[in-house]
Amino acid sequence: MSSPILTIVVPCYNEEEVLPETVSRLSAVLDRLIQEKLVARESVMMLVDDGSKDRTWDLIDQYSRSHDYVTGVKLARNAGHQNALLAGLMTARHTSDIVISIDADLQDDTDAIREFVRKYMEGAEIVYGIRSDRTTDTWFKKTTAESFYKLMLRLGVQIKNNHADYRLMSKRALDYLSRYKEVNVFLRGIVPLLGLRTAEVMYERKERFAGESKYPLRKMLSFALDGITSFSVKPIRMVTVTGFLFSIISLLAGAYAIISKLWGTTASGWTSLILSVWFIGGVQLLALGLIGEYIGKIYREVKHRPLYLIEKSIPTQQDYEGPAD
Ligand code: UDP
Ligand code: MG
Repeated sequence: MSSPILTIVVPCYNEEEVLPETVSRLSAVLDRLIQEKLVARESVMMLVDDGSKDRTWDLIDQYSRSHDYVTGVKLARNAGHQNALLAGLMTARHTSDIVISIDADLQDDTDAIREFVRKYMEGAEIVYGIRSDRTTDTWFKKTTAESFYKLMLRLGVQIKNNHADYRLMSKRALDYLSRYKEVNVFLRGIVPLLGLRTAEVMYERKERFAGESKYPLRKMLSFALDGITSFSVKPIRMVTVTGFLFSIISLLAGAYAIISKLWGTTASGWTSLILSVWFIGGVQLLALGLIGEYIGKIYREVKHRPLYLIEKSIPTQQDYEGPAD
């Protein structure tokens, strides 16, 4: 087998602080892999600027001129991590045999890239990077992430424990992925559905090299909720079952009220009455909210809006013909 062309896709949102180090480290990695003939000479890194407000794109533009292995894509506006990543993957799949996605902040060990490529050579089409420990994460991040994984598994969504978006995908895997046309992209849930041969590589996750997390609590929660409601209809079924149970209970309570009225003992329980009104009201609101969640999803899906808009891209060393479809 001849050496595959590798593209390392890096989504970048306001990453001017880490970018110089990221570029130099990934260049060194590519350099070594090319020397060892593990990957082809045309291999590159593709920096996807996700509508940054700082100098990220200026840096990418500059590096693409001064460095050998740098190419870039600029999204017209901030599309979010998952969409930025998808933009990179879908652009790269036309010019590469394998694509590795990695965060810009160097939290994922770049030495694992060699292992990724090895596993590909051995026949895997998807290679998952698995964090061996989470000691660098805060207690809060650890517990929330853990309960999220557990919840997803219980809801029947096949996601890899301790795997973020650090992974290798073959051209075939990307072609399969391109056929998933959904708007609510949650790559970690879709990739296991592709049904190709997989492998895992363990690595240690480090602290962010510089800058701060672009995933504040608000974004994390919406990411988790998206993940759940995009892949499972179990929550909505739970609501239906709860609603059914409550209807039965209220029927029984109604019967009891009528009987006690007939027997002459007038109900004196104003408190219990008001409490149950509140309770049922609360449950109904919850149910409505959840239903709204799904309807909102349908609303977004039917519009078929583009997930990202590429404003500019710095072509790779090969002639880039543009997407085939
Ligand atoms: N990112 C992005 N768009 C966004 C938010 C984040 O492209 O709207 C990128 C970010 O630049 C980084 C990666 O996604 O390369 C992961 O983000 P971050 O490291 O801030 O998340 P954390 O590791 O804290 O979960
Ligand atoms: Mg990070």
